[in-house]
Amino acid sequence: MKKALVTGGAGFLGSHLSRRLLDDGYEVTALDNLFTGTKENIYPLLANRRFSFVLHDVTQPFWGQFDEIYNLACPASPIHYQHNPVETLKSSVLGVMNMLDLALKTKARLLHTSTSEVYGDPLVHPQVETYWGNVNTIGVRSCYDEGKRCAETLVADYRREFGVDARMVRIFNTYGPNMHPKDGRVISNFIMQALAGENITLFGDGTQTRSFQYCDDLVDAMRTYMELPVEKVGAFFAAKGLGAPVLNAGNPEEYTIRELAEKVLELIPGSKSEIVFEPLPSDDPKRRRPDISLARELLGWAPKVPLEAGLAKTVEYFKGKYNR
Ligand code: NAD
Ligand code: UDP
Repeated sequence: MKKALVTGGAGFLGSHLSRRLLDDGYEVTALDNLFTGTKENIYPLLANRRFSFVLHDVTQPFWGQFDEIYNLACPASPIHYQHNPVETLKSSVLGVMNMLDLALKTKARLLHTSTSEVYGDPLVHPQVETYWGNVNTIGVRSCYDEGKRCAETLVADYRREFGVDARMVRIFNTYGPNMHPKDGRVISNFIMQALAGENITLFGDGTQTRSFQYCDDLVDAMRTYMELPVEKVGAFFAAKGLGAPVLNAGNPEEYTIRELAEKVLELIPGSKSEIVFEPLPSDDPKRRRPDISLARELLGWAPKVPLEAGLAKTVEYFKGKYNR
């Protein structure tokens, strides 16, 4: 039986990935310090004998024998990663080093979760993997963006210097059930506000764009990517002129944040919420949309869940859990 380690396993994405790995027959260890994750996300998994949870901080070394390591541990929402910026940087940089050391010593395969934030406020649109990004090194988002950029460098160098079988996925805005209701990201905020009849807080004028991916689509991409043979992955990215395997995963449908607010309100008819405008946070990217040509070619993958369908499932989740 294959063994997988999922760091950040009690978080939004980590809990979905852990469930999928169990469904695929793996023995799964979820590691988390519960900074933004919650045991509620993994309660249903604890009944499975092949699942275990370890309370651990990824900035500290961790040992165990695994076939596959999925490194997700890092606060991901701007309000959380800015709350404790130095810890955020440590989680990215020390966290990936600890996991790369584990992969090196145990010959495990590693998949690291990077982010579209490595492109910063992008000057190339849509974003392709060969674009190097436009990131402020000293702004309030830098702890996250630069931490993730440094983590990518470490993955690339552990591959070159030590031959670790490591790959990376640059995740674009992803949403779905198990997001924390107070996570602070736009979809959970808008849905919770609309359900509670509170004002919908639109930052800036709402013309900034994002592309929203449903969690199941991302998990499909991650699992397919992780199962590819090391030689195939190496040859593919070398042929594309990329120094390491780094793949965009996102839904290329692009919406303004105002359109998103309107879609959420349509799904919650009778909501008393009104849209109010609040100041745009600094360094907030103006446009974001992934070019997923490489993922299509390498994985034969494309997102399947349209925004309306994914939002409807997410609204049902939040209604059932927090609007009893
Ligand atoms: P999340 O906050 O729900 O999950 C992160 C998990 O990591 C939480 O359970 C948290 O407690 C844990 N964690 C944080 N610091 C830790 C540490 N030092 N040691 C151990 N555990 C720690 O967020 P998510 O959306 O599930 O994000 C998971 C990963 O995917 C993150 O690395 C994030 O950067 C990346 N990502 C997510 C998105 C998205 O839109 N959801 C986009 C790009 C990248
Ligand atoms: N946003 C908003 N209202 C909110 C939360 C976020 O208008 O209550 C905006 C935010 O300014 C950004 C977009 O929605 O332009 C996506 O924000 P999120 O924090 O979800 O992700 P990120 O900025 O990291 O892509």
